[in-house]
Amino acid sequence: MLIFKEAESLTTYLKKQSEQGKKIGFVPTMGALHEGHLSLARKCKIENDLAVCSIFINPLQFNNAQDFEKYPVTIEQDIRLLEALSLDILFLPDKSQIYPESFEKITYPLGHLDEIWEGQHRPGHFQGVCNVVRQLLLFVPCNNLYLGKKDYQQCMVISKLVDFAKLNLKISIGETVREKSGLAMSSRNLRLSASGLEKASLIFRCMCEIQEKIKPGALGELIQEATSQLMNEGFEVEYLSIVNTQLLPVKDWDGKEKMVCIVAASIEGIRLIDNMSLN
Ligand code: AMP
Repeated sequence: MLIFKEAESLTTYLKKQSEQGKKIGFVPTMGALHEGHLSLARKCKIENDLAVCSIFINPLQFNNAQDFEKYPVTIEQDIRLLEALSLDILFLPDKSQIYPESFEKITYPLGHLDEIWEGQHRPGHFQGVCNVVRQLLLFVPCNNLYLGKKDYQQCMVISKLVDFAKLNLKISIGETVREKSGLAMSSRNLRLSASGLEKASLIFRCMCEIQEKIKPGALGELIQEATSQLMNEGFEVEYLSIVNTQLLPVKDWDGKEKMVCIVAASIEGIRLIDNMSLN
């Protein structure tokens, strides 16, 4: 695996490969890699001639300084894991590569996505995500971009960015990879104690219960029940809702519309998000 720390040399290399007709796939990450990331990397490796992964903890997308400072870093292990997959290229930039002095932050027209759920609870988060992804895609010209459904709203945001910037690439969305307990894998899980990890799987069980019980008609009680279960277990619930695929809340279900349960809740001060298709 080739490791590039410099954006310019990576871009020059990739452009040459692209001119030779090579198909390039890209998996952007913030490291502390787990099976969720690796499932995307594997898909990327299979579907492209060159599989590129990046690891960069993007300060612009953290609305909480402590969350940024405590974000897990396991770089040596990450490199070993990617090498074991025979990934072709790792882009490992520092902040000055992604945000040189000439960099000017852009405000992207994300519409309601910037104002609801993650957008509302993490002000500035999605603008930070768009700015880093835009920079990464300038340096990594790719044909296929791999994202995880675990970050459902982020997939919609990046899709909007790709349209807005008129980027000629295909987005491929990978299913959420879970622990045996059902807990969605996340780098932040590394910060939970053993009992926190056990409790955290309640998010998955609550979503499964909603999936089992949902029927046409009013949904308020179902949402309230799940929220109370989480709160009784010590979670701070930011939101738990049933929404359509555009992320708009559905209060009365007609039994036909495609629905998703979305959750953001903290345990032991660690903020976790998850989602599940309900039908
Ligand atoms: P992150 O390092 O958290 O920024 O995530 C990098 C990419 O991996 C994003 O596209 C995430 O949606 C995806 N990802 C994170 N966790 C999972 C998971 N449990 N299953 C599948 N994809 C994931």
